[in-house]
Amino acid sequence: MHQLTLAEIARGLADKKFSSEELTKVLLARIAQLDPQLNSFISLTEELALEQAKAADARRANGESGALLGAPIAHKDLFCTQGIRTSCGSKMLDNFKAPYDATVVSKLAAAGTVTLGKTNMDEFAMGSANESSWYGAVKNPWNLEHVPGGSSGGSAAAVAARLLPAATATDTGGSIRQPAAFTNLTGLKPTYGRVSRWGMIAYASSLDQGGPLARTAEDCAILLQGMAGFDPNDSTSIDEPVPDYAAGLNGSLQGLRIGVPKEYFGAGLDPRIADLIQNSIKELQKLGAVIKEISLPNMQHAIPAYYVIAPAEASSNLSRFDGVRFGHRCEDPKNLEDLYKRSRGEGFGAEVQRRIMVGAYALSAGYYDAYYLKAQKIRRLVKNDFMAAFNEVDIILGPTTPNPAWKLGAKNSDPVAAYLEDVYTITANLAGLPGLSMPAGFVDGLPVGVQLLAPYFQEGRLLNVAHQYQLNTDWHTRTPTGF
Ligand code: GLN
Repeated sequence: MHQLTLAEIARGLADKKFSSEELTKVLLARIAQLDPQLNSFISLTEELALEQAKAADARRANGESGALLGAPIAHKDLFCTQGIRTSCGSKMLDNFKAPYDATVVSKLAAAGTVTLGKTNMDEFAMGSANESSWYGAVKNPWNLEHVPGGSSGGSAAAVAARLLPAATATDTGGSIRQPAAFTNLTGLKPTYGRVSRWGMIAYASSLDQGGPLARTAEDCAILLQGMAGFDPNDSTSIDEPVPDYAAGLNGSLQGLRIGVPKEYFGAGLDPRIADLIQNSIKELQKLGAVIKEISLPNMQHAIPAYYVIAPAEASSNLSRFDGVRFGHRCEDPKNLEDLYKRSRGEGFGAEVQRRIMVGAYALSAGYYDAYYLKAQKIRRLVKNDFMAAFNEVDIILGPTTPNPAWKLGAKNSDPVAAYLEDVYTITANLAGLPGLSMPAGFVDGLPVGVQLLAPYFQEGRLLNVAHQYQLNTDWHTRTPTGF
């Protein structure tokens, strides 16, 4: 039963082949048995899950239907869950029980999902390897010596290991797409403003966006349907109708114009990944797509711009965790300054402290123009590159990451080495565009992802292309040995 996708679960529940309660029990037992190897959960919510499963079964018995009614999922541990620990992967929030549900959580609960638990993540979503979590690193089910990607590494490892069919995640600079690539999943970062950020603990507010992680594009469509939509509680939420994503999956790709940026294939890209990307291009050509070489000339400036803007916003967002308003408080403070210093020094890990310092520096009076303002100008140039490209093509295709998942600990002594791995994903966040990563093959037994980007609010097109690709390839069906 653990092999079923969300779409298959919906059919099985509708056909009364099994109940949500039965399925939930199977998955909870599987998590108890296998998760100790992976560390993909921070908290399990067995009682809530069984309660929600029974309620979903009762709703079905009363004639209700719906693709998410009775579907087991988990939430990345930065979505607030009422009365349940919401840690953000940090000692700072280890004992924080959220007083309310994030909009994503309440929308999905209303659609009938069953919450199995809260998944592990990089501390405050800062990272690409899930090694900065206060709750310990997450392991990649494809090779337990390798990282699963980050910051949504717990969601990715759990779904890849078939502990559950899908999970929520967030993407500030690639944290849905990169772990999807590293664990052979399909992950979608929606357009900025498509999914409410209310109750989603902020890292960099102008870049953060929640989205689905699942095995197939079809399942991403199902989960996104339950997450997307206008939310008056989020001032950056956009009031744009949500299309029927599942209905759009079967559109033909005949004549689809795919842009392949020449800058994506420079030095730094593993040549074996380049080959797999070429294979995926050929596959899409067979389905009728037309390929065009394009250029994104400002892409080279994106990493430095992102690593100024994201820490700048983080330094501001994280100022609320001071041991008074929110978060861990040190023992026996001598005075207020001591309380702030020790609470923040003890509560935040090294990577978070580094980013707060970088961000505070970039925003300081003497350096604002030199760093922050300049980074914002680059951000506009990156967006303009995309706007020009989308005048000529319908989607943009390239690798999701320059390399496959690295070994645990391999980049710990050099944070910049990890930052450079974000080269293909962060531009979509800077521009606010939707992006999807889907399985494209393997290198040394480790999964490789291909990334698709589309104009604003064209998540449906990304899902359509990915679904057609998945009907004609079987990379996404491969299961890691031992799971
Ligand atoms: N790796 C990037 C960072 O550390 C992106 C993280 C994310 O998307 N949350 O900032």
